[in-house]
Amino acid sequence: MEYNRQYDKSHKIQRLYVHWDVSTQCNFNCSYCYSLADYYSEWNRIDSWARQKLVIRNISKSHLPVFLGLLGGEPTIHPNYEELVRLCHEAISTQKDGRLYITTNGSRPTNWFERHRFYENTYFLWSAHFEYEKYYGLNFELMINNIKIMKEKGFRNKVNVMLIPDKQQWPKIHKLVDELEKLGVEIHPHFLYEKGNVHRLHEYSDEFYDEFARFQNYPGQFIFEGPTDNHAYNDYDIFHNKHTCFTGWDCWNNNYEINYKGKVTRFCFKENSDLITNFNFFKNIKEVLPLQCPHETCNCDGLLKIYKEKIV
Ligand code: SF4
Ligand code: SF4
Repeated sequence: MEYNRQYDKSHKIQRLYVHWDVSTQCNFNCSYCYSLADYYSEWNRIDSWARQKLVIRNISKSHLPVFLGLLGGEPTIHPNYEELVRLCHEAISTQKDGRLYITTNGSRPTNWFERHRFYENTYFLWSAHFEYEKYYGLNFELMINNIKIMKEKGFRNKVNVMLIPDKQQWPKIHKLVDELEKLGVEIHPHFLYEKGNVHRLHEYSDEFYDEFARFQNYPGQFIFEGPTDNHAYNDYDIFHNKHTCFTGWDCWNNNYEINYKGKVTRFCFKENSDLITNFNFFKNIKEVLPLQCPHETCNCDGLLKIYKEKIV
């Protein structure tokens, strides 16, 4: 099919999608961890709390609404976690369309989640790591119970299921997905990209796509619009059929990544700044404008959400 627009149906063009690595500390050490590969010698670090509060202040002054993700490392082991979440929630709440999400490997004890305060417009993004399955108990009991608790509190929850190419892990992936489907939680099959390069997807085998054909039936959220027809594809459709090339298209890229030291980079274009010294970085972004895509492929689901148009 010929198409000339692509985006995620819930994505907003004039909102900033900001991922913040709040530390590079984690209680796991997964072999496929992107963050560990990127930070390498800077793994297991955290910036001072005073400097991190300057990062939050910079976000709170944003002219456009912010969809802020706390990543890492493992954000839930941050030494100032409660204050971190409270201040970040205040920062995104200055605008109606502000949102917050917290990523977690779900390994904190159940009573930690029971004590967690509820916040509006906030959700948890979970991922289970099979190399550490002993932490989760039989049938991922710990993570499943923790998700139930947060669901009952009113948080939205989504689970990233890491699609590991190693065949030995496949039965475990199915077992986890079976449990999550029973729970009725939103499941996101996470196709891995090659370490250090979000623009290159792992080359999965045909056997892999046959094995995980169950994901073909998941609802599609990525809209591909053509002159005569529209399609809503899911992650499986996109990656299996390689609908990932937008080279030269106009892209309203609104994704920013903050590293653990407060340096900010705009995804795909490598524009850099420092949030500690550039106090009004987010305040000065008055509008998201299109730039031409310089990449061969757009392989990360976060980037596939962004609104793009073919130049005619
Ligand atoms: S739990 Fe996440 S952050 Fe921690 S090592 Fe594994 S992939 Fe990396
Ligand atoms: S790779 Fe980056 S610049 Fe290119 S279309 Fe995707 S999000 Fe836009």
